[in-house]
Amino acid sequence: MIEMQPNASHFINGAYVEDEGGAEIALTYPATGEKTGRVFAARPDMVAKAVRAAEAALPVWSAMTGAERGRILTRAAQIIRERNRDLSILETLDTGKPLSETLVADAASGADCLEYFGGMAATITGETVQLGADFAYTIREPLGVCAGIGAWNYPIQIACWKAAPALACGNTMVFKPSEETPLTALKLAEILVEAGAPPGVFNVIQGAGETGAALVDDPRVAKVSLTGSVPTGRKVYEAAARDLKHVTMELGGKSPLIIFDDANVEDAVSAAINANFYSTGQICSNGTRVFVQTGIKQAFLTRLAERTGSAVIGDPMDEATHLGPMVSEGQRGIVLNYIAKGLENGARLITGGKSIDGPGYFIEPTVFADVTDDMAIAREEIFGPVMSVLDFETEEDVTRRANDTEFGLAAGVFTRDLARAHRMVRALQAGTCWINQYNLTPIEMPFGGVKASGIGRENARAAIEAYSQPKSVYVGLSAVEAPF
Ligand code: NDP
Repeated sequence: MIEMQPNASHFINGAYVEDEGGAEIALTYPATGEKTGRVFAARPDMVAKAVRAAEAALPVWSAMTGAERGRILTRAAQIIRERNRDLSILETLDTGKPLSETLVADAASGADCLEYFGGMAATITGETVQLGADFAYTIREPLGVCAGIGAWNYPIQIACWKAAPALACGNTMVFKPSEETPLTALKLAEILVEAGAPPGVFNVIQGAGETGAALVDDPRVAKVSLTGSVPTGRKVYEAAARDLKHVTMELGGKSPLIIFDDANVEDAVSAAINANFYSTGQICSNGTRVFVQTGIKQAFLTRLAERTGSAVIGDPMDEATHLGPMVSEGQRGIVLNYIAKGLENGARLITGGKSIDGPGYFIEPTVFADVTDDMAIAREEIFGPVMSVLDFETEEDVTRRANDTEFGLAAGVFTRDLARAHRMVRALQAGTCWINQYNLTPIEMPFGGVKASGIGRENARAAIEAYSQPKSVYVGLSAVEAPF
């Protein structure tokens, strides 16, 4: 039996806090279904306590210089890198994602983020505006107490993507991870304190949707940043709107990956694999509608089936494993239901399609061909390893169909025709586009969605805008004129 019981459920004001009166949340290792520990949901008093701690920490933290705050974030990044393997194992136990991924993509990308915003903290300044004899200047001020709410697919990365820019700007934060994956956010809180963050700057509370809702409703919270599904996004946006709180919404997608006849087949297949099977398909920006021009379709499907057949599925702790289980039994059920709908609607199964016997929530990487735009598997976010391949003939046709969705998170285009690639990305309704690449989200590049996929951007300098606001100061240096 693997043991991964944290010291306590919540981390508030620089220390672990427990309240066993909250609803119990069982921790489960998705690769075996074993119960590995438990945490307790924060009751309203605990939510209020965390917000109070964040509020109390604000004057000290926001009064520090950007360089001082940045040094702490950079130190936290170094500690994360030193403990990358332990943190990756913990993330694998919580999510079921293979260690081959968590070692390079989870805590490591969180460290990139802390390093990036740690470096940027000292550069966050206002501007001066010359106004004839007078002038104005702006002060870039933090928003206050920020609430971060995370999904279960990239737990520590999501916590860092929210905490690092928020803290760099002088805000404090209360973070609620998904109840499926509560552990690594607690580790981040510990590490930030170890790196020198004053108590209360970054707090973690556990719980399900109602804990998140209580946090969003707290009048002392100035900003809410959510990573989650569109339905949750609508609820949280609505709740935040009642008090006119700032929001960042990183929501779901059903993104198109468009492959033209002139594309390099191996690169296109690699991209389709990364866009559908990395993290067992549990990635918001996945290119799950793979539009393939008819001239390349057969070559593409043949290589895709061959290469998918060589995927190693199994023990996530074995670094040779490519695909782990789904995060939970429930999520596997949702995905299997979509596979059944695909078959029922007449899509052609190329490979996969079944769950894998034995313990754990495993499912085969699945490819459907001859998918049409109206099928549920082509319209709805599945959040699992299910790829839909759709045919197309012309650029006009594929552009219209790619945009015919409520979502707008990401899009990819594979072609050797440079002019067409740039024309396409101008026409595609998506917050992030890739040309001859897919699913790379470096910290230097803004990330976020349009349409129902979200509001605002994370990463890059754009995130500074999301966690600060300018105060304008007009300075009069000449006589004051009045009408009488
Ligand atoms: P959910 O929307 O179910 O949950 C997201 C978070 O919101 C969880 O912590 C959840 O708590 C919490 N929550 C649920 N209801 C409320 C509420 N009323 N008020 C406040 N908080 C609430 O998403 P999943 O965790 O299932 O994650 C998958 C989804 O996240 C997919 O749609 C995916 O596309 C999206 N996502 C988007 C990303 C992006 O950057 N655009 C990145 C990663 C994922 P709990 O689950 O504990 O009950």
